[in-house]
Amino acid sequence: MSKINTPAATLREPAELIAHGFASATALSDLEHVAARYAVAVTPQMAALIDPTDAEDPIALQFIPSAEELVSGPGENADPIGDHAYSPVSGIVHRYPDRVLFKLVHVCAVYCRFCFRREMVGPGKATALSQDAYDKAIDYIREHSEIWEVILTGGDPLMLSPRRLTEVMADIAALDHVRIIRLHTRVPVADPSRVTREMIAALKVEGAATWVALHANHARELTHKARAACAGIIDAGIPMVSQSVLLRGVNDNAAALEALMRAFVESRIKPYYLHHGDLAPATAHLRTTLEHGQHLMRALRGRVSGICQPDYVLDIPGGHGKSPVGPGYLSPADSFSRGREPDAEKRYRILDYCGEVHLYPPKP
Ligand code: SF4
Repeated sequence: MSKINTPAATLREPAELIAHGFASATALSDLEHVAARYAVAVTPQMAALIDPTDAEDPIALQFIPSAEELVSGPGENADPIGDHAYSPVSGIVHRYPDRVLFKLVHVCAVYCRFCFRREMVGPGKATALSQDAYDKAIDYIREHSEIWEVILTGGDPLMLSPRRLTEVMADIAALDHVRIIRLHTRVPVADPSRVTREMIAALKVEGAATWVALHANHARELTHKARAACAGIIDAGIPMVSQSVLLRGVNDNAAALEALMRAFVESRIKPYYLHHGDLAPATAHLRTTLEHGQHLMRALRGRVSGICQPDYVLDIPGGHGKSPVGPGYLSPADSFSRGREPDAEKRYRILDYCGEVHLYPPKP
């Protein structure tokens, strides 16, 4: 892989991307239009992983803006998973009875070109909830004793300082009915140097169990430094799970997906979700079809152990929540073999990991 001119600081301007060889000079005008609408940030760690000579580099596709982001596709929506309809107070999304999203920070270490909250973390937006809105959000959680789990998301909660994160964790854990605090973050891969001893200490809190969900989409993101940052979190007694987005050109083949899931498990991170791409504005070029996603999940089942299997899920547009959309393996036998087997209608048809069909009897 050829690497040129790795930057010392996060790249935020199209001209900087061009100067470092990550985009063509002829694209400057288009990229400036994109950057005026959707935030751009490529950390030195992510920039160092990009091969600028590869037009299809899977890291570049995730972070380097493209002119395709000037074109919105059918069905795309500024609020693709319907957060707004379930937001009783600013910063809170209460879609499922026992848990809320708490979106208290609106900045990220990197900005993903497929981001489902790209309108929220974009240029000109507030960087965090105001103190008044924060207090109202905490009050809301306090008043709803059915809330068992608070999910800090964003933006990226690990962009807070350790001091502020300690305060936030303590405020939430002080609410007796909240037993779990989950943080969704890309920081351990995008900027592992932020995962300091102080940051890890801030994640631990009396009164609630902390879980961390790491967002990564390609095995190359799990660098030595990223794995060390995650090991520091896990060694502190905090379990980690993964979430990834199925992305065209990044991880939409069985080998890439297998390598990613193996990298998570080698890092002691349990694969949790593989999201089908949301209908975020101007992201059609990065999405695949649901059928292709199901095909990949079948392939993954044949290549790696159960511990490496994520749930393939789709957030239903309109705020109707997440549903598993992976392939089915079980169907009633009578739908395909009635008449050919004497009692086939009493059996199930089940596919094995090689795609072979077997019959299984129902409970008498
Ligand atoms: S880290 Fe998450 S919230 Fe931030 S840009 Fe990427 S997908 Fe969006």
